[in-house]
Amino acid sequence: MPQPLLIATRNRHKTGEIAAMLGESYWVTDLKGNTVFPEVEETGATFIENAVLKAVQISAHALRLNPEDDTYVLADDSGLEVDALGGAPGVRSARYAGEQATDAENLALLLHNLNCVTDLAARTGRFRCAMALARRGEVVATFEGACEGRLIFEARGEHGFGYDPVFIPEGEKLTFAELSPEVKNRMSHRARALMHAVSWLRERR
Ligand code: IMP
Repeated sequence: MPQPLLIATRNRHKTGEIAAMLGESYWVTDLKGNTVFPEVEETGATFIENAVLKAVQISAHALRLNPEDDTYVLADDSGLEVDALGGAPGVRSARYAGEQATDAENLALLLHNLNCVTDLAARTGRFRCAMALARRGEVVATFEGACEGRLIFEARGEHGFGYDPVFIPEGEKLTFAELSPEVKNRMSHRARALMHAVSWLRERR
């Protein structure tokens, strides 16, 4: 029987990546189009704090709806840290160009702010992902993953989302948006955090 796992996100790209990495042993659902669960504000100062906030609040809500509920809730918080920008956009990655900013607007602002860094070798950064697992309203474990790389000067590629078109992971020549989703899913920050989460879950099945 596949193990149910609720992903505390309304971002289908993320759910898709996570479901593809987990395979058939998990029955993955998310909050897309679900108005019963609240929007959790990401008020934490770190990726871990935000992941814990989301996992705990969604799991606590599931428990209020059904006191028998013991589904694991997995929340992730992720973003891009750019060294030349002092770690920005960081936890503000999704809202870099404003609260309602689109991926394209965030990407344009990033390239603008990096204008003065003309040497590719100095345009280093990393995607980070923190994950938190909660059950019955309490956090049970946290996990982290990172993927180092460089930020190029112009967007390239059609896959993925967010800052993928300008991020070349270490050891590759193509951006995350040019690499196939399968390749990205093997090396991404999310894949690395998820690997730890999956080992943890498997040990407890
Ligand atoms: P979150 O939904 O609060 O975790 O925000 C994550 C934001 O970080 C996204 O909106 C993207 O801007 C960026 N981000 C996180 N992971 C990725 C990725 O795998 N590729 C591109 N951008 C990402």
